[in-house]
Order: sequence, then structure tokens, then C-alpha cells
Amino acid sequence: MPQLICRESGESYPIHETRWKSESGGLLDIQFRPNFDPQKVKYAPPSLWRYRDALPLDEEEEIVSLQEGFTPMVSLEIGHKTLLLKLDYLFPSGSYKDRGATVLMTHAKALGVEQVVQDSSGNAGCAIANYAALAGINCKIFVPENTSSGKLAQIRLHGAELIKVPGSREETARITLLAAEDTYYASHVWNPFFFQGTKTFAYEVCEQLGWQAPDTVILPAGNGTLLLGAYIGFSELQEAGIIAQVPRLIGVQAQHCDPLVQAFRYHLKNIPVIEKKDTLAEGISIANPARGDQMLQYVRETQGHFIAVEESEIKEALLELGKRGFYVEPTSAAVYAGALKYIRTQAQHDERMVSVLTGSGLKSTDKILKMLA
Ligand SMILES: *Cc1c(COP(=O)(O)O)cnc(C)c1O
Repeated sequence: MPQLICRESGESYPIHETRWKSESGGLLDIQFRPNFDPQKVKYAPPSLWRYRDALPLDEEEEIVSLQEGFTPMVSLEIGHKTLLLKLDYLFPSGSYKDRGATVLMTHAKALGVEQVVQDSSGNAGCAIANYAALAGINCKIFVPENTSSGKLAQIRLHGAELIKVPGSREETARITLLAAEDTYYASHVWNPFFFQGTKTFAYEVCEQLGWQAPDTVILPAGNGTLLLGAYIGFSELQEAGIIAQVPRLIGVQAQHCDPLVQAFRYHLKNIPVIEKKDTLAEGISIANPARGDQMLQYVRETQGHFIAVEESEIKEALLELGKRGFYVEPTSAAVYAGALKYIRTQAQHDERMVSVLTGSGLKSTDKILKMLA
């Protein structure tokens, strides 16, 4: 039986409890060993739900889905090297957060949850609002007041109650934690079911490579929603003997907000307190990631590291992506800038590298216009 396990105290709980943190207030992980057979999904419909057997959900649970996922992976030539890019901005709500939202809201519906709260710099709120609407669950989303207007419109259109919080992203998280004391917290940071959704990224990448792992995977490192999920997915596939090794994970941060880069560089055990500056990459502007220690641990375990990118590099990357046919948000461009940096300075010529375009540009048009001015 899968269990919820507290990362700090080791306390465990049945998976059917509507809890999102432990009795002592610690973060929860899910202890679960999937029984997954790649042969069985060969002819399954092209959505992330082809990996349902790898998810800790009951057989009879009705899925809350728009047949999302199994996103294209395209190949880009960069100098004499090749980068494979997963187009995760093509999800229904316009970002990879739908991976977590479809799985988490499926679980919430099966638990009989009637209301959820969530906070985000935008996209996680959009995804939860969308899937809460599909699940028929009431939804309250807290966002920092400087969130892009496209994301605010989307959250409202899906029928969620929108609460704008003055001040920083950290202040929004603090207020939401209070509201979550007596509600189900559909958090992409706290709720371990969200990572069960984002782990499908790893399953898709490996299947699209003929059930082989790439050497290196370059991902955003904000709260680590995708990075932690990818690690879980690759680890499961490796433990099941389906792939030979877990790829090296490279986490990308904006230099204006780079606590993980610093922790890694100075071999710190915990995340340092930093003074963050405004960045184009709003989606990874997280000064104090709740699962920061976990990100450090996983990245170290894979012999990976963290890369910081400057504002000018983010802007250049966004312009280059535009010329290559991708309209993505600046946060996505930061990850691409990190991938370019990795390829130019460290990659071997035959290294198999995968990165991701995380979010659509269509809801960040206000910020993109400002950048072009
Ligand atoms: C949430 C988000 C990120 C940051 O991802 P984490 O997994 O939290 O590190 C990056 N890009 C976009 C578009 C996002 O919505």
C-alpha cells in the first residue's frame, strides 16, 4: 500500500487521508513502488494517463482529465550539438503545471474534497483552477498582486475565487498557509500528489527515446515542481530496470534569485537567506523554496548542479526562441538560456540532453511587450 511519509519525522499516514502536511507540520512524500509495464502502454492514447498504472490511485477512480500530456519532443541544433525540447507549454492551461493538477484533482475528487486553496505566481493557480472546475470542486487562488493579467483572467474564467495579495510571492505563500489550515491545500509545493503528476515528464521522455534515459536533463529550479517530479519518475524507472541510470539533473535559476546556486556552490546543507531582485523569470523567483533541501539532495545524487542566468541572457534566449517558432513566457526562456549555457560550456559532443519549454507566452504578453519596448 502506498503511504504518506513525513520528510522530517518519518511518521506515516494512509494515502486516503485528506492531509497535505504531517502532524508535526512537515512536508510529505509518497512511499510507493509502482508496478509498471512499458509493453502495456504501447497503443494507449497519447496522454499522460497512459502511465496510470504508475500512479498511486485506486482502479475505480474517475480521472479528471482533458487527455493532456504526451507533449511533443522536438530536436534543435545548437552549434554542433543537439538539444531535445519537450513542448510543455502546449498543455490545456498553457503550462506543465497541468501534469500535477490533473493527478492531484483526480485524487481530491476521489477523496470527496469539496474545496481547495492554492497559491502561485500564476500558472499553478491557472492549472488548479482549471482542473478544480472540471472536478466540480470549489477553488480559491491566492496570487501576488503583480501577477500577469493573462493569468488573472484565466483563473477567473475557470470560476475560481481570486485573491490578490499585496507584497512578495513569499507573503502570498504565508497567507495561503493560514487559509490551508482548515481546507485541502492543492499546493504544487506541499501536496505530494502534485509530484506524482509531474513525474510523468520522466516517463514521457524515456518512452519517446525508446525507453532509454537521456544523459542530462535541464529543468527550471524555482520550487522544483518539475525537477523533483522528474527525479521521482526517473528513479522509479531505474529501480524497475526499465532505464539504466537516472540522468544528471541541471537546475536553472535566475541570477537575481539563486539560493540553490549559492547553496550548491558553497556546499551548504540548507538554503541560504538571500536578497532577491526583480527578474524577468517570475515563475522561478522563489527566494525560500520549501523543498529546497530536497532539490539539493536529488541534484547532488545525480551528479548534477545548478546554473544561474543573467537578465540579458533570459532576454536573448526569449528572442532566439521566438525566431525558432516558440512563443513562450520569459521564465521558460530562462531555462533555455541555462540549457544554452550548459551546452556551450560543459556538454560532451555526443551527450543526449533534454530540456523543456514550460509555459506559453500568450498569458505573459504584457511582460513580453514591456521587454520589447
Ligand atoms: C512553475 C513554473 C516554473 C518553475 O518551475 P518549478 O518546477 O516550480 O521549479 C517554470 N516555468 C513556468 C512557466 C512555470 O509555470
